[in-house]
Amino acid sequence: MKPLGEFFLIEEIRRGMEGRYPSWVSCGIGDDCAVLRPGEGKELIVTTDTMVEKIHFDLSWSSFYQVGWRAMAASLSDIAAMGGAPLGALLSCSLPVNQAGGVTELARGVRELGDRYGCPLIGGDLTRSSQELFVNVTLLGEVDRGKALCRSGAREGDEIWVTGTLGGSLAGLKVLRSSPGVSEKAAQFVVARYLQPLPRLKEADFLAGLSSIHSLIDLSDGLSSDLGHICSGSGLGAMLFAEALPISPEVREVACALGEDALEYALNGGEDFELCLTAPEGALEPLVGRFRELFDLPLTRVGRMVVEKEISLVAPGGETRRLDPLGFDHFRDEVHSEKSKS
Ligand code: ADP
Ligand code: MG
Repeated sequence: MKPLGEFFLIEEIRRGMEGRYPSWVSCGIGDDCAVLRPGEGKELIVTTDTMVEKIHFDLSWSSFYQVGWRAMAASLSDIAAMGGAPLGALLSCSLPVNQAGGVTELARGVRELGDRYGCPLIGGDLTRSSQELFVNVTLLGEVDRGKALCRSGAREGDEIWVTGTLGGSLAGLKVLRSSPGVSEKAAQFVVARYLQPLPRLKEADFLAGLSSIHSLIDLSDGLSSDLGHICSGSGLGAMLFAEALPISPEVREVACALGEDALEYALNGGEDFELCLTAPEGALEPLVGRFRELFDLPLTRVGRMVVEKEISLVAPGGETRRLDPLGFDHFRDEVHSEKSKS
């Protein structure tokens, strides 16, 4: 079969977006640059994330569609973590020649997740790679001027809160890799958390609208690492309560089947794409019920910001241990799939 040409593939992707651009996109795929019109009184926010085959995903258990979805989810999650709204996505892919046809499925994954959050695919790039698939998503977004929620805003005594439940993505990866004997329900739940995560944009928009939020980050590398960024950015430390961490029964079931500790999944598992935020004592408690009604998700207080510059974990019995940032680090850890072996 004749290999599919670059321009044919780009044309396929362009056609997939025809007639689907929102009002702020005056030029989408097809020219040298996309042209966007950000809103009045807004600041631009920009983020980029790259995923590499065998490091971030494995095509033996992820489809091209799911790879595109996850790459888009990671970038949308960064926009959520600033309290912003997405404007448009650029998708750059490098693929070996024999996989070039996969790019349209990959773009469909990006497009369909983008559709859920009003974020169109506005451009990208396509090149050949020698062996592995590389996927980069760059997102442009906007936030009310001066209102971006940074990692550096936490204050001493702030409560630490997280959305949703933790450890599901890592549990899903483990199910895909080693098929432990768990119920169909648990397997489906955690595998979906890994393969097709949903970034918390609507939740972040709700939270950013409360004037009480001091700092916000998304959980991409794992709570122990990402909370560490809030701590170092804010010149503080944190105390986490092990009993408070929201862990789903499905994650507990997977950990139990593998003879592992679900608490470690929640502390160090990456790519849950939940939000972690800090707010003054008492500010969020009255909103927990509303949050659940609106988003069908828990909002859970898991700890407190403290002066001593380290993260400590308070066990159910009351004993305290120091928590090191054991989330994923590219230049420290083995490839992504290896971290689940420890
Ligand atoms: P140039 O040579 O000017 O960089 P390209 O041929 O790379 O142009 O791209 C042509 C158009 O197609 C541009 O609008 C570009 O943003 C878009 N494009 C290229 N690759 C992709 C992709 N993987 N996904 C979405 N749009 C793409
Ligand atoms: Mg180009």
